[in-house]
This record gives sequence, C-alpha cells and structure tokens, in this order.
Amino acid sequence: MTAPFVPVAPSPRPGLLDIAPYVPGKEHAPGVAKVFKLSSNETPLGASPAALEAVRDVAGALERYPDGQALALRQAIAEVHGLNRDHILCGNGSDELLGLIAHAYLGPGDEAIVTEHGFLVYPIQIRAAGATPVTVRERDLTVDVDAILAAVSERTRVVFLANPGNPTGTYVPMEDVRRLHAALPKSVLLVLDAAYAEYVRRNDYAAGIELVSGAENVVMTRTFSKIHGLAALRVGWMYGPKAVIDVLNRVRGPFNLNALAIAAGAAAMRDRAFAEAAADFNMLWLGRLSAALTALGLKVTPSVTNFLLIHFPDVDGKRAPDADAFLTARGLILRGVAGYGLPNALRLTIGTEEANLAVIEALTAFMEG
Ligand SMILES: *Cc1c(COP(=O)(O)O)cnc(C)c1O
Repeated sequence: MTAPFVPVAPSPRPGLLDIAPYVPGKEHAPGVAKVFKLSSNETPLGASPAALEAVRDVAGALERYPDGQALALRQAIAEVHGLNRDHILCGNGSDELLGLIAHAYLGPGDEAIVTEHGFLVYPIQIRAAGATPVTVRERDLTVDVDAILAAVSERTRVVFLANPGNPTGTYVPMEDVRRLHAALPKSVLLVLDAAYAEYVRRNDYAAGIELVSGAENVVMTRTFSKIHGLAALRVGWMYGPKAVIDVLNRVRGPFNLNALAIAAGAAAMRDRAFAEAAADFNMLWLGRLSAALTALGLKVTPSVTNFLLIHFPDVDGKRAPDADAFLTARGLILRGVAGYGLPNALRLTIGTEEANLAVIEALTAFMEG
C-alpha cells in the first residue's frame, strides 16, 4: 500500500507565485536632512481643511462600524458630478475596485488586455484572478486604440485603460475611446481608470461619464488619492452600469471603506474650490517644469497630469539611474520606471514651489556636470 500524498506546506492557487509584488515609490534618501518625495504622484497641497475637520469629528466615535453603503460619500459624489448614486460604488482606494472587477469578471482561461506602459496594478489583479494579461504596444508613449482592438480574442473579458496614462502622462482623446468602445464586443468590460482626470485641461478629453451612462459594458474608476490629497485614507469610486455595481456589491467586504475615509471623502468632494485651486497650481508648474527641463536638453513627454516623464541621455554618467542617484543624494526622490519598460526615464511628481525649484537646480547641475 502506497502512502497518501501529504503536502508539507499550504500552496496557493496556480499562478499566484508568478506575480511580481507591486513596488511603491521610494520614500527615503538616507543621510539627507530635507527630503521631497516626488515619487508617488501625491499632491503637495495636502487635503481640504473641510476633510481634516471631518476626520477629527469621526475620530471621536471610533468604536462605531462605518456605514457599509458609504451613503454620505456616494451622495456627495453624485451631487457634484450630477450622477445617480445607485450607479456609484466606493472602494478602499481605486486599487480595491480594480481588484474587485478582476475577481468578478475574470477567471482561468480568460484574457484581459493592458497596454505596454500601463499601470502595474492591472496585471497583478488579472493574474490574482487566475486570468492572463495580454499586453499591447503603445505608440509614442500613448495608448493605441487600434492595437487594443487587434488584440481582442474570444477569450477577452476586460480591457484596462488608464486615461491619462501613468507613468506616461499622455491621454487618449474621447473620440478614440468612443471608437474603441464601439468596436469592442458587448461582452467585454471596458475599464476607464481616470485617476488623474481632475488635472486634465483639454477640450478633447473626457473621463468617461457619458460613455458609462450610455452603455452596459463600461466603468470609470476615480480616486481621492491624487488631487484630493487623501491617499493615506484609501478612497476610490467607480461609476458604472447597475448590473456591474450589483455584482461588485456582492463580492466586496461589507465595510470596505472606513468611517474616516467616508467622511473625509465626502467633505473633499464638496470642496470644489480647493480642488480647482490645486489644478491651477499644477497647471502652472507643469508648464514651468516642462519648459525648464526641456531647456536643459532633457526630453519630457507632454503631460496632462500632475507628473512628468523625463527621458535621460543615453550617455555614460547621464542615464536615468545616474540621475536618480544624483537627485536622491540631494533629497529629491523621483520614481524609477524600469518596471514600466522605461529604463532610461524617471517620473517626477509636481511638488511644492520649493521642491520644483530644487529639482530644476539639481538637474541643471546634473546636466552640466
Ligand atoms: C494613483 C493611481 C490610482 C489610484 O489608486 P488608489 O488606490 O485610489 O490610491 C489608480 N490608477 C492609476 C493609474 C494611478 O496612477
């Protein structure tokens, strides 16, 4: 009689060990007194004072479970954006919503399309669901709608599109997003990740609200982590068809947003003047930094977001890793983007005036050195 097979340790589902864990932006510059973290696209302006006050109010009642429907937050989003709150789902960051979508709509044997320099959270969630990410090339660091359509197969279930893109900072005009949607099979869910929508000032850009409203297979995800300055609290939201919201409501945790997140998010959403001023500040420095870095001979990808993708010369001592070390030694922490297929570039988040001027000064010294 042969002995039964006895595993020596618990083993995860097939494929999970193929996932490369997400690596967040660096935070530390060892030995440097003053550090500017410009590696995670956080706002330099903090959160709305109204959001901070809301947090203080809720902090007096931490023994209470949050509202599992996040009604106050959904109501604030619905009012400000003119949407039906029944079509809004909130998440513990939009990362949670992306994960819920993958787990609800993907499984083994399914494919989901992502783009060459797309957000690395997508392939992680696709693999975690047991499905296969299919990566399509971009053109000039911009998503190519035709390349996505050419990659659609009978197994395609979801398309993840960051618009604007991270780390590129480029965008796909709404006309092209519409064309993409029109040509996709009705069974394919199009996910428009509009994490940076609030920063975009282009007439031919739209985050996707109208497209969602008129279709059964499009969702738009948004975040409070960027312009609203609430990254620490983890607040995201999604606008989608009732059927999709209903599915995700079945699989999410019952209290997926904490009470501080709900209250602060609602207050931040209603403080439109704060967000508008943040967008103005960003526009000003996006222009100034782009011009200053270009004048140094660096190539900067035109950005509509709160960050810039800087390309370094392919010359000994002047490549991206050299610049990264040079800047880090001066307390300026940018984001290496080799993991996004861009080994000779760094991503710079627009910071405070002081941080931005320090970046210009340091890169001037780097290029002259
Ligand atoms: C920052 C970012 C998000 C936001 O994630 P949260 O989980 O809401 O903090 C989503 N998508 C992209 C492309 C981002 O860069």
